[in-house]
Amino acid sequence: MFHAPQLAGRTGYRPSYRVDELNRCPGCGGAQWYVGRITAECAFCGAALPIAEAGNIGARLSITAQAA
Ligand SMILES: [Zn+2]
Repeated sequence: MFHAPQLAGRTGYRPSYRVDELNRCPGCGGAQWYVGRITAECAFCGAALPIAEAGNIGARLSITAQAA
C-alpha cells in the first residue's frame, strides 16, 4: 500500500486524521484519539488512521551552500 505512489483523485477514499478538525472514527464513530507522530489511534476500538499533516510536522534539515 505504501509502496505505490498515491495520486490524488485516483486512489479512492482514504480516511485520515486531521489535526485541526473534529475527527470521527470510521469504525465506531468515537471522537477520542491517541495521537502519535505518524498515526492516530481511536481510544475506543483501536482503529489507526494516518495523520494527514504528518509530513509537515517537525524540523526539516536543509543544507544551503554559501559562497566563501
Ligand atoms: Zn473507533
